Amino acid sequence: PAAAVHADSAVPIYGVPGTAKERTFIAVKPDGVQRGLVSDIISRFERRGYKLVGLKLLVPSVGLAKEHYADLSSKPFFAGLVDYMTNGKAPVVGMVWEGPAVIKQGRVMLGATDPKAAGPGTIRGDYCLTIGRNICHGSDSAESAQKEIELWFGGRGEVVDWASNNEEWVVS
Ligand code: ADP
Repeated sequence: PAAAVHADSAVPIYGVPGTAKERTFIAVKPDGVQRGLVSDIISRFERRGYKLVGLKLLVPSVGLAKEHYADLSSKPFFAGLVDYMTNGKAPVVGMVWEGPAVIKQGRVMLGATDPKAAGPGTIRGDYCLTIGRNICHGSDSAESAQKEIELWFGGRGEVVDWASNNEEWVVS
């Protein structure tokens, strides 16, 4: 895809993988929102030192959810997964987080896809029990992060470059 660039920045909205400007797409799924876990999940990333550069609350369209999970379209749980994400019983919180190794570390902080295999101290290991209600999403590679940030935030100027005053204490 064409490099989507924030109007005010030379940094593509999906960041620069492998640098302190690496970015990932993290979402709190409807069960996480319904259960009041948004602030905890944001807090974990914020306290670690990662920088929030995109944030939105939405009920995704069926088209958006199908594109987001396109790799899983042949799975038996696909229809249920799309319904869970889009039925509007609760919205999704979509976020873009920035910082060193945020793609890999974001996945570590989420824990294993199946919460029964997720360690204590991870979001899934602490707060959920089944794979069909695992409360959060995180991009699994630089390619996925680019695709997902462009899909959820692309072209709308919704990813914000800003300089954190903490940066010299967190990143050097
Ligand atoms: P991850 O979300 O950790 O990247 P996957 O890409 O494998 O994991 O799966 C995407 C999402 O699909 C999972 O987070 C989960 O919500 C759902 N899912 C995966 N496997 C199953 C399953 N066997 N039954 C129901 N839902 C599933």
